[in-house]
Amino acid sequence: TAAVDTAFAGAPASAPYLNPRLPVAQRVSDLLGRMTPQEKIGQMTQAERGAIDSDPSQITALGLGSVLSGGGSVPADNTPSGWADMVDRYQAAALNTRLKIPLLYGIDSVHGDNNLVGATVFPHNNAMGATRDADLVRREEQITATETRATGPQWVFAPCVCVSRDLRWGRTYESFSEDPALVMKMETALEGFQGRRTKDLADPTHVLATAKHYAGDGDTKFGSSTSGTYTIDQGVTVTDRRTFDRIDLAPYVLAVRKYGVGSIMPSFSSVDWTEDGVGNPVKMSANKELLTDVLKQKIGFDGFLISDWEAIHQIPGDYATQVRTSVNAGMDMFMEPYSSPQFEQTLLAEVQAGRVPMSRIDDAVSRILKSKFELGLFEHPYTDRTNIKSVGSPAHRAVAREAAGKSQVLLKNSGDVLPLKKSQRIYVAGVNANDMGNQAGGWTVTWQGGSGNTIPGTTILQGIQQNAKNVTYSADASAPTAGSDVGVVVVGETPYAEGVGDVGNGHTLNLSDADKAAIDKVCSAIKKCVVLDVAGRPQIVTDELPKMDAFVMSWLPGSEGAGVSDTLFGHRAYTGRLPVTWPRSESQEPINVGDKNYHPLFPYGYGLRTHR
Ligand code: BGC
Repeated sequence: TAAVDTAFAGAPASAPYLNPRLPVAQRVSDLLGRMTPQEKIGQMTQAERGAIDSDPSQITALGLGSVLSGGGSVPADNTPSGWADMVDRYQAAALNTRLKIPLLYGIDSVHGDNNLVGATVFPHNNAMGATRDADLVRREEQITATETRATGPQWVFAPCVCVSRDLRWGRTYESFSEDPALVMKMETALEGFQGRRTKDLADPTHVLATAKHYAGDGDTKFGSSTSGTYTIDQGVTVTDRRTFDRIDLAPYVLAVRKYGVGSIMPSFSSVDWTEDGVGNPVKMSANKELLTDVLKQKIGFDGFLISDWEAIHQIPGDYATQVRTSVNAGMDMFMEPYSSPQFEQTLLAEVQAGRVPMSRIDDAVSRILKSKFELGLFEHPYTDRTNIKSVGSPAHRAVAREAAGKSQVLLKNSGDVLPLKKSQRIYVAGVNANDMGNQAGGWTVTWQGGSGNTIPGTTILQGIQQNAKNVTYSADASAPTAGSDVGVVVVGETPYAEGVGDVGNGHTLNLSDADKAAIDKVCSAIKKCVVLDVAGRPQIVTDELPKMDAFVMSWLPGSEGAGVSDTLFGHRAYTGRLPVTWPRSESQEPINVGDKNYHPLFPYGYGLRTHR
């Protein structure tokens, strides 16, 4: 069986690895020297909380190194203390092992500690890209780190340093920009999460970060699937080495060399080098050249690689082949949510058969243990709840509100209709004006996110109502009255995540018929009309734009909709600029700044300014 051998005695209290005064490298090698092959493989295994929650003693029996909450995998008591109690319960099981190696808990805090109801939810990353404010991103992630760690998890699967090159990708909003330079500018996110890794990680205001998804996840070819469906998500990046280095790899070089990122998640996608003309793309989880030769050796990455969710099973071959290929390619920890103990048993057999060298296992485990020492988990394995009251606090929400306000991009403003004045009679239309779930988007409480009253905060409508006395609202734009001074139509998308949001996979960049009708109705009935787009990416507005007096891209602003109205009413100037190119039509995709025939509706970097 894969169960850890308990025949060996535990370590004495004097063991060097238990001594916090010794250098991390010495503690790692001491601990590694005490471990059985089973214990080592356990450290390389990450299970889903859903698989172990009913019986956390599996953590002890299998010596699991890590547990994750996949998107929306939340405790029944989805409160700050509910989370901390859950993680501590698992931690107790980990500490019940022979060598008492603490557990690392990972979660997708991709726009705040977004699985937790009541956390501060920030705008998604492309909105943050629109702010061009690297310090704001640093502050965002410092808050996210604090809220996340105070509630248990010490590790986040963020930030996405993906460079989104095609809006049809369902993960576009997770990317700061189509321009690698802007993505790199926003890698202050890493500093916010980790502080300085070797110095600050043990602090309760920091977490281990993950740069994802290595590399080229946002640069995949549209419709490249052989199965006939659109899989721009998890697809193939068709490129040449120089372009790949410049666009897709550069953010990782910075993440490693400047910020010392602690972990990196290889992508579901693959790369096809046009220059060798061979095709035959290799899944990133199996790409030894890119994982080991390039990332670890050439770039110098000294953290550990965490596979994406069951990603190794996209490698051709049987289970053993998939495991062996990925470990030998350089993967260190395996997100095998529901596969224990098959994963551990398989890898052990591969090691015993000599098909995976023990030196590779030792390298992987050393990298994982190093992070646990740096996080101070051997000294403080349980959740430090010092900052638990700060979760969703007014001070934290103020930063999310600032981010929402700064992310607004003003794309049209005829006759200076904006900013609105509080004396105006305002008619507001559109579901997205008053839907918390829609304005938060995917990765909010659940993986896909959802419409409705899912989290506390303020909607855009509530923000408008705080600013003006005479506000009428109609979700479906019924009966707009000519008596209003200005109409505000809030259009947009409903939540999605990952490939679910791919265009062609049930989604489109086009406005819905209902949104078009609302624009028509309101803009013809009321003298002045303003349209806000609450969506994870630019939508096609080419035909509607002439009907509008003002047009604002509001992105997915998160829990603090009041930030959107701060800017709408001039309490904050419009300073946001497009982090991506705005196409005229869906068929113009992919279109990116620097392209030869570049005739978008709005170019990259566009954004009108107002004064306060
Ligand atoms: C996503 C990752 C995420 C992981 C864990 C995967 O489906 O691609 O971005 O970190 O799930 O939730």
